[in-house]
Amino acid sequence: MNILERYHAMDYAPAPEARTEADAWLAGRDFAKALFIAGDWRAGFDGRSFDTADPSTGKVLAKVSEAGAADIEAAVAAARKALPKWSALSGYERARVLYAIGRAMQRHQRLFAVLESLDNGKPIRESRDIDVPLAIRHFIHHAGWAQSLASEFPGRRAAGVVGQIIPWNFPLLMLAWKIAPALATGCTVVLKPAEFTPLTAILFAEICERAGVPRGVVNIVQGGPEAGAAIVNHPGIDKIAFTGSSEVGKIIRKATAGSGKKLSLELGGKSAFIVFEDADLDSAVEGLVDGIWFNQGQVCCAGSRLLVQESVAEAFIAKVKTRMSRLRVGSPLDKNTDIGPLVDRTQLDRVRRLVEEGARQGAVCWQPDHEVPQTGYYHLPTLATGVAPANILAQEEVFGPVLATMSFRTTEEAVELANNTRYGLAASVWSETINLALHVAPQLEAGVVWVNGTNMFDAACGFGGYRESGFGREGGREGLEEYLAPSEPHGPVIKPAAPRAAARDNGEAHGIDRTAKLFIGGKQVRPDGNYSLPVFTPKGKLAGEVGLGSRKDIRDAVSAARACKAWPEATAYNRAQVLYYLAENLSGRTEEFAARISELTGAAHKAAKAEVEASIERLFWYAGMADKFEGRVHQPPARAVTLALNEPVGVIGIVAPDEAPLLGLVSLVAPALAMGNTVVLVPSATAPLVATDLYQVIEYSDVPAGAINIVTGHTGELAAVLARHDDVDGLWVVAEADICAQAEAESIGNLKRVWTGHGRSLDWQTAQGDAFLRRATEVKNVWVPYGD
Ligand code: NAD
Repeated sequence: MNILERYHAMDYAPAPEARTEADAWLAGRDFAKALFIAGDWRAGFDGRSFDTADPSTGKVLAKVSEAGAADIEAAVAAARKALPKWSALSGYERARVLYAIGRAMQRHQRLFAVLESLDNGKPIRESRDIDVPLAIRHFIHHAGWAQSLASEFPGRRAAGVVGQIIPWNFPLLMLAWKIAPALATGCTVVLKPAEFTPLTAILFAEICERAGVPRGVVNIVQGGPEAGAAIVNHPGIDKIAFTGSSEVGKIIRKATAGSGKKLSLELGGKSAFIVFEDADLDSAVEGLVDGIWFNQGQVCCAGSRLLVQESVAEAFIAKVKTRMSRLRVGSPLDKNTDIGPLVDRTQLDRVRRLVEEGARQGAVCWQPDHEVPQTGYYHLPTLATGVAPANILAQEEVFGPVLATMSFRTTEEAVELANNTRYGLAASVWSETINLALHVAPQLEAGVVWVNGTNMFDAACGFGGYRESGFGREGGREGLEEYLAPSEPHGPVIKPAAPRAAARDNGEAHGIDRTAKLFIGGKQVRPDGNYSLPVFTPKGKLAGEVGLGSRKDIRDAVSAARACKAWPEATAYNRAQVLYYLAENLSGRTEEFAARISELTGAAHKAAKAEVEASIERLFWYAGMADKFEGRVHQPPARAVTLALNEPVGVIGIVAPDEAPLLGLVSLVAPALAMGNTVVLVPSATAPLVATDLYQVIEYSDVPAGAINIVTGHTGELAAVLARHDDVDGLWVVAEADICAQAEAESIGNLKRVWTGHGRSLDWQTAQGDAFLRRATEVKNVWVPYGD
């Protein structure tokens, strides 16, 4: 054998990571007392337990005590008890605790990595080089936020006791993403790891004991859906932070509707990996390996849909196949392993089923010719070609090592295909032309876009989805917002408006010559049903009539709002000018609007005039902010900059209050418009003529057709139609508590972003500021690498 033959015959020798320390830890722990509550290690009240196993062998690693409802009760009580003292500590004191956690984790870095690979099956290279260092960075980064909280978020307070539920794919990293911002903001925590991967959370609780976390501040309970549901439904919890499947996310959205609990959801994805013909194809292949085969594809933001430009598709797929043949499938503890086992047999069965179904629907599924280890839940990396856009492999989150491939011809087609999904978590764009990449990134409906890269994360950069990938962000400033109580002052409880009936002597048709129509797509239109509603003054005098809007009218209004591209695509300066113009035109009619408000609310002329003037001032403020509420640039510890762009949410439904019918309406509509959203407005039911009088003001102010649509009618009915409409991206409701609760519960179709006053009004004099602008935007983080 000559040297060349010897070289080619050479194989990798096994390079196993030592597991002695992990085995000693496993042998030395009493897993029958694995619930960490109020600083004590406890068994569950009802003595139940579950097994956690090594996915590469199926062997049980530990029998872990399981929390039932009584244990959740105890954990919540401990967190509640610890809350006042913890949230009252100075930022510096909390920072010291966070830093101590980070340092203690660093000292046990290798143990964390080995335990994670044993419990989850992920290759040790990943847990050692990615999961654990990122988790540590999260705590150390958030120590700084704890200390600067008072100056960076003045006047804000902790959300309270938070219930946190995490999945099994990044057990320690997801724990860090949840616990670090909670502790930094002064919240206390009840966290439930996933039932497949309880171990690193137990080690983390030991770290908390050593790092001086006060008793009850962090409580870790083990268990599955039942324990999760007990957390979600517990009335002593102020906020739920959930990471997991969209299916369970929807259950949680519904379960928390009307409870007043703050909610953030980090859910599934079907992210596009777009390769343009001018990409560096070899780099893109390496990126793809990270994008879809990292953690066996069990990654929420996995680049599971490859979209490759037709001109290079054949060459690129050939390169991908060659690279797939070199992926090493094997023991997670072997440092040479690229692909470990899936987490559990149930997950393996699910992936196999989806691949079979994809093939049945016409996809050609190719796998490299690898030997699969004898034991364990291994699935070979799989490439599906000939995938039609409707194929299950193109639409469903597989959560396994399966790549669905499609090709495109033009940039427009690439964007269209990428957005053809109900998810919106992440995307990768590969092109050597930076102009093209930065042209495409804002068009992708996804919370994170990586240019010439993939799966980059950092504690300083927000992460989270659009659409059914959930709402809220983790990391950075946006992530902290999720753990702070809302800042706006709450007004009085909203009671159902007493129906206004006609007084006996109501001066029928006195001065009335028409029924106000609806305002849809820039035109005044009759309601579909051709019915109208009488509008009475508080004294029962008929003031006029308005159209009785129906489901069909809302649908038309949503279509018009969706079709209006001129507004979201206008420059911010342009939008500012239109809002100033609206203010100017309203000010020309101050007396007329004041008289209308007086007539419909019974307010004295002076107060009514003050409301109009305050509305004009508010329009001015948001006009001024339209080009100032900008994004940021992050400099993560990588050779990349991250552009955090504030993008409009999309179509926002707004249900405005009866109280302050003009100022309330303007306070909600103006921030939505300022940020480039289009609006479907349901105005006050008792004073709708204030809104219908605005039609002319809107018409004179250069507002593009469809940017504002107004549908009058019964508030509760119209709010419910907006909540159920899957083309509405956001919904803001200031109305009675049951209307707010219903809006939240019925929003689960597309997981639209719902904000309500929870049955309370706002102090409209002060209801202005960044909170509204934040609500009107989604933050998209675009990672742009630099250097060779
Ligand atoms: P899952 O939704 O089945 O479970 C997630 C967690 O929720 C587990 O702890 C589980 O015990 C708990 N749970 C299950 N049913 C519940 C219920 N009815 N009420 C309360 N809790 C309940 O998801 P999974 O299979 O563990 O994880 C995979 C999913 O997580 C994928 O869809 C993936 O995309 C998603 N994920 C998202 C992100 C993100 O940041 N967006 C990150 C990682 C994983």
